[in-house]
Amino acid sequence: MKLGVLALQGDFIEHQHMLAGLGAEVVQVRLPAHLEGLSGLVIPGGESTTIGKLAEDFGMIEPLRHFGQQHAIWGTCAGAIFLSKDIHRQQPLLRLMDITVERNAFGRQIDSFEADLDVPALNHQGEEERPFHAVFIRAPLIESVSGGAQALSCLPDGRIVAARQGRLLATSFHPELTADDRFHRYFMELSK
Ligand code: GLN
Repeated sequence: MKLGVLALQGDFIEHQHMLAGLGAEVVQVRLPAHLEGLSGLVIPGGESTTIGKLAEDFGMIEPLRHFGQQHAIWGTCAGAIFLSKDIHRQQPLLRLMDITVERNAFGRQIDSFEADLDVPALNHQGEEERPFHAVFIRAPLIESVSGGAQALSCLPDGRIVAARQGRLLATSFHPELTADDRFHRYFMELSK
């Protein structure tokens, strides 16, 4: 399986290593032509304004929209912001997922935190159920899901931190920064 990581800014290398470790062929995507032949694309965490502006400069906005209408895309943190349809402020967005997002919803960098999440979609029959240890770094919150989007995981207080809409996946946290590869395996299933 050939997958891409959007390599404009952010922690794409960590995603690349994790997907390669699971047996995928992984390419770094910077230009529209790099999307050719891919089954799925990861948009990493970083700074969503920077990723959006660079995507505009590199002529990537429309090609990414087109790609996401047919293939799997997973946005982590800044990538989830970039995938969303609305964040109540002006910056380039793909507007592919019916989710609204609040940037920096948990406060500043110093308010970053880790939490054990219940993610039912990751539990496989016959495997022991265990929580997913999630790293939130100046993380966004998925305020609401609508249309075809559904919540995959919430914090104990009910706030949404992971969502899926068909082959589109958004997580406000960073599975590429832990050793737990279940989200990456889940995304590879969506990319098939
Ligand atoms: N705070 C960043 C933003 O708003 C996201 C942080 C991250 O990707 N870890 O774009």
